[in-house]
Amino acid sequence: MERKNAWLNYDEKQLEAVEATAAAYRAFLDHGKTERECVREAVAMVREAGYKSLREAIRQGEPLKPGDKLYDTQMQKALLLFHIGETPLEEGMNILGAHIDSPRIDIKQNPLYENTDFAYADTHYYGGIKKYQWVARPLALHGVVAKKDGTVLNVVIGEDENDPVVGISDLLIHLSQEQMTKKASEVITGEGLDIILAGKPLKGEEKDAVKAQLVKLLKEKYGIEEEDFLSAEIEAVPADKARDFGLDRSMILGYGHDDRVCAYAELQAMLSLPAVPKYTACCILTDKEEIGSVGATGMEAKFFENAVYELIALCGGNAALGVRRALANSRMLSCDVSAGFDPMFAEAFEKKNAAMLGRGVCYNKFTGSRGKSGSNDANAEFIGRVRACMDDAQVAWQTAELGRVDLGGGGTIAYICALYGMEVIDSGVAVLNMHAPQEIISKADLYEAIRAYTAFAVNMGPRSDEI
Ligand code: MN
Ligand code: MN
Repeated sequence: MERKNAWLNYDEKQLEAVEATAAAYRAFLDHGKTERECVREAVAMVREAGYKSLREAIRQGEPLKPGDKLYDTQMQKALLLFHIGETPLEEGMNILGAHIDSPRIDIKQNPLYENTDFAYADTHYYGGIKKYQWVARPLALHGVVAKKDGTVLNVVIGEDENDPVVGISDLLIHLSQEQMTKKASEVITGEGLDIILAGKPLKGEEKDAVKAQLVKLLKEKYGIEEEDFLSAEIEAVPADKARDFGLDRSMILGYGHDDRVCAYAELQAMLSLPAVPKYTACCILTDKEEIGSVGATGMEAKFFENAVYELIALCGGNAALGVRRALANSRMLSCDVSAGFDPMFAEAFEKKNAAMLGRGVCYNKFTGSRGKSGSNDANAEFIGRVRACMDDAQVAWQTAELGRVDLGGGGTIAYICALYGMEVIDSGVAVLNMHAPQEIISKADLYEAIRAYTAFAVNMGPRSDEI
């Protein structure tokens, strides 16, 4: 049951489309290195395509009609899109959900200190990382600084080629005899991930002169006081731009494919729907997946459910019952990346159930760990309908499992949405070296993900499983 490589399907015209899609996606990655930046990019894209603010519609009390397109944001870190279909919402939506947070190094609230003529930012990493991968490489600082007067400064340092970059040092190999005998998890510690920000002392200053010079610079150049870090969210991310990977340019190397590649595919799918889809199509771009879907912007929060209440109200439906029915009758792709089979680490996979780069969009019936724990085990009947939907649209797709049994594991937002009683399956793009500062995907898989998500949003319909 080997799946064919998707590249073998393409004619000249499709190859051009694959390249154009890849180029636009690389730009999306370069402009969206944080969840906030992704939301801003996405809102600009969908506004141009005629999406209107749901909040504005609520204020106006405008009744909604089929064909209306709405967006809603949550604390500027999560985004919802709804494209109202001809069928009543109570019959369920076709939902695409991805996350737009990625592993990174967050700056602490009281970060600045000096040690031996270096000024540092103390950090706390975010998400699952191999810490040793984040040293000795250029990092950029992205985020916001919320001042006491209510203004919010946007920070992006290290992206312009004339900008300075910052980074974390590693020990020289010449003196690493002891370090090289340590376990990989201990080579670099969490508290050892501090970022060098500066190395020049302020003249006339006796103590902590480098930090003093840095504080002066932050104030003069960026308008940031040291105390402002208390109410800041600054993320250190790889400063590199996304690049074509491989001499044949068949892949993309970049930061944050997990899960911006699926987020981007969802956006493209939403923008290619018919003017009035049969069922309401919904796109969820959520935050905080990498730390357990927590907080007001994570999938465990109620912002999605709240928005559905608002939609039902604006469509003139019965509030509570209508919402329950709309959610329970929905079909969802939990769009998240899958572990791509890596021949260099073949022993970590069970090959015939592994995702192969270039063989199309992946479907994971379950994720989880230690006997599927923490997973959403998608229903066989649903998978049957998804198979038909994919094959009818001639999408290149494959099934996958997250590595060898009992080797590790991971989760997605699938199990959270499944709590509403809707049908959910994980579907995403295979990634090589996931969660490393630079991850790798195949351009063909991105292209097939867009085709898959479009087909799902347009063609999926309700289940019939009554006994
Ligand atoms: Mn993910
Ligand atoms: Mn992840």
